[in-house]
Amino acid sequence: MNSPESKDQTIPQKIIRSVVELCTDCDTCRTLMDQDCLFFPELYRLWDQEKESGVSISETQLRRLADLCTLCGLCPCPKIPADIMEAKSRYIDREGLPLTIRLLTDVPRLARMCGTFPKLVNALQSNKSISLLLKRVTHVHPERQLIMFPEQNFFQWAAERGLTSRKKGERNAAYFVGCSAGYLFPQVGRATVEVLERNGVTVYVPSQQCCGMPHLAEGNRNATLACVRSNTGNLLTSIEAGDDLICSCPTCGYFMKNLLKEKAYYSDAYQHSVNSGEDELRMPHPSHGDKKYRILKKSIFRNILNDDGYFSSIDPMSRINLAEQISDAGEYLARLLAEERVNIRFSSITERMVYFAPCHQREQKMGRPYLELLGQIPGLTIDSIGGGIDCCGMGGNFGFKTDFHEKSLIIGKPLMEKIRKKAPQAIITDCMSCRLQFNHVLPYPVFHPMEILARAYQNASS
Ligand code: SF4
Ligand code: SF4
Repeated sequence: MNSPESKDQTIPQKIIRSVVELCTDCDTCRTLMDQDCLFFPELYRLWDQEKESGVSISETQLRRLADLCTLCGLCPCPKIPADIMEAKSRYIDREGLPLTIRLLTDVPRLARMCGTFPKLVNALQSNKSISLLLKRVTHVHPERQLIMFPEQNFFQWAAERGLTSRKKGERNAAYFVGCSAGYLFPQVGRATVEVLERNGVTVYVPSQQCCGMPHLAEGNRNATLACVRSNTGNLLTSIEAGDDLICSCPTCGYFMKNLLKEKAYYSDAYQHSVNSGEDELRMPHPSHGDKKYRILKKSIFRNILNDDGYFSSIDPMSRINLAEQISDAGEYLARLLAEERVNIRFSSITERMVYFAPCHQREQKMGRPYLELLGQIPGLTIDSIGGGIDCCGMGGNFGFKTDFHEKSLIIGKPLMEKIRKKAPQAIITDCMSCRLQFNHVLPYPVFHPMEILARAYQNASS
């Protein structure tokens, strides 16, 4: 938001109304985002209806419209999801957050509650009547499979192996695991550790909270900022100790690399750190060849380019430092591979698999780092599937919700059909939310790339 404190911009429906006006004036996403997002088709439908009937879009319709954005980040203008998340938070500031959403987005708490007696909880969930009742109470669609909790989560496993203490005197890779691999799919976290250790990397699992993305997508500002504050402190301590920082979840990566630093470069602290001249605003511009910065005239842009976004209450230099230091685990391995530091003595896996790069990985603009590594596994045939705007439709936990389940399946349908045509023996994707959707729709097993690499190391001579 450029001027969040102007009166109109503190009212959420006015923010959404301004998004409607901007995007109908531009109209690009009427066709561009027609199939991959629920927000834009509804925005244009409401606008066309308003023009035809002369009746303005109502406040209730604007409220419902905001709910349709999952913050997938696929639309061309970062300002649009930024404005939507600001509006969602202002709605929640005004209305409060329903208990069911609070519960569904707080995976660590859910895991603590259900993971204490995982066998009992999973048995109860397997009972059809109890499961239906649970779904009704939590507003989960009746056809969605409830999440099964592992007997041991990743953090318990890591503590048992002594990974939660930093090895002094060594360069560690501090691993931000995220909630989905931490609590729901610990095999992904374990595989990541195994692959890194196989390549001589000392892994350390620092104390961590949820990255904040599920809270952000629901408009829970307090919970989002609390997660960010806690993680920033812990992870920057690791960086200061000289550690590399990695994450294996593309949503955590997108949140920390892309969203967190939003507008931080406009801050006085950053401008001072890069010795900007009196009438300069220096912006990092790595794609500018030799030029490190793009230089804007401060006298022209100062009133519009400020660090006044969603995360502005958190120190801008800490946000920049975290965003610039954290690497996706695939990106990290690809760097080691380029330095010839990856053990590529893999055992063979004679199978045909498809690889899907999820939205939040694509938005990090890091290419497809796992493909080259997976390509080194003898016998493995990989088809990279899905174009620039293909989406599984799950949208974090949105696909679980009664109101969104059907729509999430409609969004994911083109991608599911592309995968079905390939009839693979397995699907590989980095995103656990995509994994849940693939598990729901398709008959093929789904793995994180690290699980395939770990499997290829098993039985291989080291
Ligand atoms: S998101 Fe950007 S490109 Fe798409 S309609 Fe809105 S203003 Fe235009
Ligand atoms: S972030 Fe994703 S869901 Fe939200 S408006 Fe953009 S494309 Fe649609």
